[in-house]
Amino acid sequence: MRPAHHDTTTVERGSFALARCSCGWTGPARRSRERARTDARAHESAAPGEA
Ligand SMILES: [Zn+2]
Repeated sequence: MRPAHHDTTTVERGSFALARCSCGWTGPARRSRERARTDARAHESAAPGEA
């Protein structure tokens, strides 16, 4: 399931990576991009409207 309004990307900040969504959500800073991508996928399947 992938709601269209959840458009996630991963952003790099120094040696950290974090997930970001078009709905305004930002994931925690991770030390690996894989982790950030996992956060993004978890967010995409989360209930819409959740901050
Ligand atoms: Zn979102």
